[in-house]
Amino acid sequence: DHPVKFTNEGVQLDHQPQNNYEWYVKIPHHDDYHLWIPTAANPEQRPWLEALHAGDAEMGECRLLERDGKWYLHVTATRDLEKRSASDPTDRTPVGVDIGDAALATVCHRDERGTPTAPDIYSDEASQVRYLRKTYFSATHRLQRRESERIAEEYGDSLWERIDHIIHRVSRQVVERAQQVDYPVLVLENLRYIRENLDYDAFMNRRLHGWAFAKLHAQIQYKAEEVGVPVATVNPRNTSRECHVCGETGTRPQQATFRCTNDECWVGEYQADVNAALNIADRYRSGESQPQTDQDSGQKTAGDDSATDGASLTGPQDSHSEGETRLATSGTHTS
Ligand SMILES: [Zn+2]
Repeated sequence: DHPVKFTNEGVQLDHQPQNNYEWYVKIPHHDDYHLWIPTAANPEQRPWLEALHAGDAEMGECRLLERDGKWYLHVTATRDLEKRSASDPTDRTPVGVDIGDAALATVCHRDERGTPTAPDIYSDEASQVRYLRKTYFSATHRLQRRESERIAEEYGDSLWERIDHIIHRVSRQVVERAQQVDYPVLVLENLRYIRENLDYDAFMNRRLHGWAFAKLHAQIQYKAEEVGVPVATVNPRNTSRECHVCGETGTRPQQATFRCTNDECWVGEYQADVNAALNIADRYRSGESQPQTDQDSGQKTAGDDSATDGASLTGPQDSHSEGETRLATSGTHTS
């Protein structure tokens, strides 16, 4: 009935991507031990969670409350934001970001004449993440069989930390590239659209392991907002199948190659991820984009408390943005 309030001293956030529940919150319980509670987070609020977990946002007061047999944790958080330069959205240069398997991210934009600039393709990082994940599953399995649970856990944690560092480095570099462009807008695929309109699981399985995709997406978003670079999202349908020059649906003879089947079009074969990044950038101009801001998601779903749809964030105010992150909790375990 009455929410339990915690000050910022007690509650902690932990990320365990290898588990069914990715996020855990530590609830202070007793002098000697605490409750670590697995939680389901609202995917719209992932940028806030990533910022909190990375220490780029500060946790304020938290409230734990029960409603209809479900427990919710409301977290207040604060972070610094650059003021966005005022300019007409149509004057902005869209920088397209494709998040994928072969490359963790592929970033490309067109210059003022419409010519694609040299892309940034993070394919080494994708191999590193794949290697670390594989090592995690084989090594921890082996260690657990030898009953070295503690060593397995510590080794596992260090591997996930390295993956975390790679994703943070890539998201930072993506934002830095956008900062070098005049009046940039970073354009990503809209995850909400994917959840509502496509087979989300199939989409995620097609990509790099789902959480890494969501993590990179969220980190790019919050780091861009930190430095005043706006972020927009576009409909992801067929971004990897359409030709960025003529718009026709082509084929993918190999994972890395897009082939345009339009005889009138000069594009024969093109690097598939760069083609996708350009399509994503171009959809910003064709008016298919939605601004991706906290204000936007907050207004659309305010008052809805469900774990998947609820959002009660307030928009950026002056140089600070304050948000409330809601986590639905489920089950408990102690440590
Ligand atoms: Zn074409």
